[in-house]
Amino acid sequence: MTSYAEFYRRSIEEPDAFWREQAQLIDWQTPPQQICDYSQPPFARWFVGGTTNLCHNAVDRHLANRAQNTALIAISTETDSERSYSYAELHAEVQRMAAALQALGVQKGDRVLIYMPMIAEAAFAMLACVRIGALHSVVFGGFAAGSLAARIEDAEPMVVVSADAGSRGGKVVPYKPLLDEAIAQSRHKPSAVLLVDRGLAPMQRQPGRDHDWAALRAQHLHTSVPCVWVEATHPSYTLYTSGTTGKPKGVQRDTGGYAVALAASMKHIFDGQPGQTFFTTSDIGWVVGHSYIIYAPLLAGMATVMYEGLPTRPHPGVWWSIVEKYRVTHMFSAPTAVRVLKKQDPSWLQKYRVDSLKALWLAGEPLDESTAQWISDALHVPIIDNYWQTESGWPILTLAQGVEPQTPRFGSPGKAMYGYRVKLVDDATGEELTAPNHKGVLAIEGPLPPGCMQTVWRDDARFVNTYWKSIPGRLIYSTFDWGIRDADGYYFILGRTDDVINVAGHRLGTREIEECIASHPNIAEVAVVGVADSLKGQAAMAFAVARDATGLDSPEARLKLEGEVMKLVDHQLGAVARPARVHFVNVLPKTRSGKLLRRALQAVAEGRDPGDLTTMEDPAALQQVRELLGR
Ligand code: AMP
Repeated sequence: MTSYAEFYRRSIEEPDAFWREQAQLIDWQTPPQQICDYSQPPFARWFVGGTTNLCHNAVDRHLANRAQNTALIAISTETDSERSYSYAELHAEVQRMAAALQALGVQKGDRVLIYMPMIAEAAFAMLACVRIGALHSVVFGGFAAGSLAARIEDAEPMVVVSADAGSRGGKVVPYKPLLDEAIAQSRHKPSAVLLVDRGLAPMQRQPGRDHDWAALRAQHLHTSVPCVWVEATHPSYTLYTSGTTGKPKGVQRDTGGYAVALAASMKHIFDGQPGQTFFTTSDIGWVVGHSYIIYAPLLAGMATVMYEGLPTRPHPGVWWSIVEKYRVTHMFSAPTAVRVLKKQDPSWLQKYRVDSLKALWLAGEPLDESTAQWISDALHVPIIDNYWQTESGWPILTLAQGVEPQTPRFGSPGKAMYGYRVKLVDDATGEELTAPNHKGVLAIEGPLPPGCMQTVWRDDARFVNTYWKSIPGRLIYSTFDWGIRDADGYYFILGRTDDVINVAGHRLGTREIEECIASHPNIAEVAVVGVADSLKGQAAMAFAVARDATGLDSPEARLKLEGEVMKLVDHQLGAVARPARVHFVNVLPKTRSGKLLRRALQAVAEGRDPGDLTTMEDPAALQQVRELLGR
């Protein structure tokens, strides 16, 4: 067996040979001529000259050997339903969806926006898009009209695929009215909307624009839609993520590099085999959902579980009952979900046989040691943290269990993964910090490995300026996370360097929330910060200055305005972005040059010392915050 150190070294020192080997994990219609073209840094073009198709590799390729094996298990504890699809059945459904999209005019290069709950049709739609060379842009179902409108405007989809409703905790969440409102708000209008009717909520259909999936499916029951072979560098999708500005960025990913990266990750990181079952509890609206609910398990010929529902409903043992029933071998979740389960009766974990599990991977936010220890003691399997980002598409830091199994060290997501030239750099000088245990910005030298973002959708300048120019003096990719590395090469993540916060593993831009709150007629100014939360990791907290503060000295008036602000955020951005509290203050802490001192606010809200405040305009500003929070 190769040691991981040797495996990593080879990926960095002989990248062409390394990735040429990995490229054999997928099918190519034309093999690549060049492994990596990095002639225009920081733009990396992987597997140039190769043509392939993501859907072929995820579905069609398996028909020869495992057509009757289970590919997709869609479970909803919201509608109390379970449906399994073999690879052959998935192949048929994806073709029907692809035929429906083609009937609505979708061609190679067109965008299709998918705003769907966690139902099998969402997977069909994603796979159907890449089958015909169209780009999908999945928008998390928890986002509301304003967020959706911004994404429709940026992606300019020809078609939107949606459904009547999702459901959360037994409560129906209608999607169609939000979608209609978003389309009305957006300057770009999709030419068609394809609707899955689950029979959960009534839908008003716009004649000529809105189409019924059931009807189109029936028309195309036997239509065969061949895979469109695309260049390896052809974009497969865009996925929006928050940054420091109010405008979300469309992370654009290629086809060949992504397929190779995911297939390789399944082998080397997750050690997944055909016939095994992967259960990722995330949502298709997030990158973990794209990579490890949909593409990677299917590329590997495994069965993948899609789950709609809460981890605690109908009872806190529901996930373990799924593990038992489907003999789940690989489970992937987020620390917040485990913290939620930790609050329940521990006996739920003893009720089910979970001995099929090989390991539990957790990602999306810092994994605290006590949570890791608790779930480790309960499951008796390795608990493996993994650190990555929407931008990377697959883990940057973790343990490569398929190369050399290692014991996780709680508190650390692990080591640099093969292909990633991970560095810690001094944020002021750009110098690399090579000695152990020095805090620096976690950065990655180009070229980024296959699978990582190609660019920001239609904005190469933003890609370069945002990610590659934030470290002084050198062109290097910044993750915007602080980190340290110990003498054994294990990294530790110490929080973001920017204004991005992480609530229950969901990445939110504080600017986006601020812009939304500031659109309330009685809000003059607002600062949103992330405050440590024992369950969700962080919670958003808003500090606002009212335009007209008359009457705001009464608690009822404050509560009323706070309620209005929360409603506005729910309506515009979605409940995921709703601040836990909105506090009203007379003035916000700012520097003399007018920059908001978010970090000082955050420190006070967390009961920490705000540090050096000599640049602060009005020292009384923090005093009021202290009094408000009783700090
Ligand atoms: P997202 O793009 O939504 O996946 O968010 C990525 C960000 O989440 C990273 O830049 C980190 O700030 C944080 N993050 C993701 N995984 C981890 C982890 N395992 N440990 C600590 N932070 C993490």
